[in-house]
Amino acid sequence: GYSSHHKKIEAHELSARFYHHLLMNTEQGKEAYDYLLHRGFSPEMMERFQLGYSPDHSNVLKGLLEKRKFNLQEMEEAGLLLRQESNWDLKDRFRNRIMFPIQDIQGHTVGFGGRVLGEGEPKYLNSPETSIFKKNETLYGIHLARQEIRKSNTAVLFEGYADVIAASNAGITNAIAVLGTSMTERQAKIIRRNTERIIICFDGDNAGQDAARRSAEILEQEGLIVQVALLPDKEDPDDYIKANGAKRFKSEVIEAAVPLMAFKMQLLKRKKNLQDEGEKLQYIEEVLKEVTYLSKAVERDFYLRQLADEFSLSLDALKQEQFHIYKESK
Ligand code: ATP
Ligand code: MN
Ligand code: MN
Ligand code: MN
Repeated sequence: GYSSHHKKIEAHELSARFYHHLLMNTEQGKEAYDYLLHRGFSPEMMERFQLGYSPDHSNVLKGLLEKRKFNLQEMEEAGLLLRQESNWDLKDRFRNRIMFPIQDIQGHTVGFGGRVLGEGEPKYLNSPETSIFKKNETLYGIHLARQEIRKSNTAVLFEGYADVIAASNAGITNAIAVLGTSMTERQAKIIRRNTERIIICFDGDNAGQDAARRSAEILEQEGLIVQVALLPDKEDPDDYIKANGAKRFKSEVIEAAVPLMAFKMQLLKRKKNLQDEGEKLQYIEEVLKEVTYLSKAVERDFYLRQLADEFSLSLDALKQEQFHIYKESK
């Protein structure tokens, strides 16, 4: 009911303040603080995103929650405590991790992402799905970014917490992220209520690019104007900003974002050597396939002409080939 919901949020906000205090002001949190500094996260960003540190003990948060008279069973349901298999005792879920508080659109803390310091498995440990934390409708950073998203009529969507923070530090404050999952229809609807335009900037690896395509399709279905930014292979936005600076990130990645179809063409191009006749023909064939499956006739025509121009081909030949592809798909 209402009061349980309220208690769970209150406990999350207490926990976030506690973890943040440990990170910013204590000896215990120093290694985590230095780790973040080393990664390029400024103290201002640690403040803005209320980053924290969960201590390397199993019942520190538990003790605090107990002292503040929270019902510990309820805290287990809220995902803050975990029942041990050995003796059924409750213990802290997060231990020795960098804490990223996750807020709902109103700014209430409803969950956490916890990252190991440096290497280790799992790299991220996230709060479980609970009555206050619905992953399919949560977007990391939305509360902080909302005003800027509305003002610019554009959101920039990332894959990770670290990317949102690095982007924000680079002056891109309309930054949000999916929570390591793929974009859901619910999330797309929430974004659409705040903006007409979105730029997807996922990691440069294959997984990131596949996720970008899927997300773009879902966002387009909700009526958003989608552009996709391509990063160098194996880099993510955070890496790119660190290596190349904010200015280049804005001009060479964000402002160079293109419509989904052009993004697909960039990806195909990256995999082929267009100096080679055989690979060039394969490229044309693959682009043609993508073009054929576009739902809008105007778009099909636009890209068909572009392909004809780029490779000095006749529109007739391309259309014949397209007819072939279309028949084969039936
Ligand atoms: P970092 O820069 O700190 O290594 P990242 O954001 O680049 O982090 P990725 O591996 O690219 O990390 O993952 C993107 C997002 O996916 C993370 O921010 C996190 O939300 C989620 N994620 C990654 N690994 C896991 C995991 N093991 N369990 C749950 N979620 C994960
Ligand atoms: Mn603070
Ligand atoms: Mn990444
Ligand atoms: Mn990263």
